[in-house]
Amino acid sequence: MAHQDIRIGKIFGIEIGVSFSWFVIFGLVTVLLATAYFPQNYPKLPRYEYLALGLITALLFFASVLTHELMHSVVAKLNNIPIHSITLFIFGGVAHMDRDAEKPREEFLMAAAGPVTSLVLSLLFAMIYLASTAFHLPVLIAGPALYLAIINLYLALFNLVPGFPLDGGRVLRAVIWWATGDVRRATRIASRFGQAFAAFLIAVGILMVFSSQTLWLDGIWFIFIGLFLWQVAAAGYEEVVLHNVLNNVTVADIMTRDVIAADATIMLDALVNEYFMRYKHSRFPVEEDGHTIGVVTLDDVKDVPREKWPQTRTRAITPPLSDEEAVASTTPAEEALSRMMAAKRGHLIVIDDDVLVGIMTMNDLATAVRMRRGLGV
Ligand SMILES: [Zn+2]
Repeated sequence: MAHQDIRIGKIFGIEIGVSFSWFVIFGLVTVLLATAYFPQNYPKLPRYEYLALGLITALLFFASVLTHELMHSVVAKLNNIPIHSITLFIFGGVAHMDRDAEKPREEFLMAAAGPVTSLVLSLLFAMIYLASTAFHLPVLIAGPALYLAIINLYLALFNLVPGFPLDGGRVLRAVIWWATGDVRRATRIASRFGQAFAAFLIAVGILMVFSSQTLWLDGIWFIFIGLFLWQVAAAGYEEVVLHNVLNNVTVADIMTRDVIAADATIMLDALVNEYFMRYKHSRFPVEEDGHTIGVVTLDDVKDVPREKWPQTRTRAITPPLSDEEAVASTTPAEEALSRMMAAKRGHLIVIDDDVLVGIMTMNDLATAVRMRRGLGV
């Protein structure tokens, strides 16, 4: 869970959090319901009743979204895909999972669980509404029930649009994946559908903004949601491609061997002239008594004023080697990549049995991905 999220509880071992944007939307939804929707549909009620209707409905609406997300996660857990937490944010929810589905069947069940849940909720609220009209129950029950029956139906239908990253797009991806056995192709097709739908939303949004004085706010919403979906659709595809390309690749396949290590005792002017200028690398492992003590980068050198270079030893400016900075050559390349990303570091040094055997940089990784994609291997 990102640090700015506010934790609200734990269900089925899954932490539930809300992002700040959620409170803004919650307030907005409550106000719109209490001042527009309910007064229009149920006129001549006291004002506090509209406020109560707005609050009850907004709360149940967000509970519906949460249930939808929770069911995705429950099905994921049943398929042994660990879920740590769910964050409700402006467009719904995001589940934080450790890995993607490995089989089309898992993906299908996980994706379908959400819209099915929304459909069931819609039916449930529809039944409550029918019962409340039959038995003349107060508007505080009938009003929210009708609204929630409709909104959950919308939620199910919207999410069933067959474009990745929407649930329907994941279902489509699972079906193509199952039919062709090619997850990359399935993702590409589902992402294209997702981008087409996003473009459609943006186009409709722009039309609404410029052609209607009553719908321009909805139009802006359409544009926002469209842009968001577009971005996720594109990024999701890249991620799968990367995952595919790096599958079965280890650090040993990618790293630069024959590393040139700098001596920890040399002064910075020697380090600059004999290493950085000579080999034109942006970083060097630093060794002392046969042990690697860290990696020195050009930025570390730049932090020291030039006149101090002749008196400063390389050891003094080398950040101490951290556990996450060193890997074994047998580490999967994808794991190495996540480590570099997590630490916002451009390199890892590769150490087998206490001996420095290589260095892996983002550059090495990018080259490897480019080559493998180009060769189609
Ligand atoms: Zn969903």
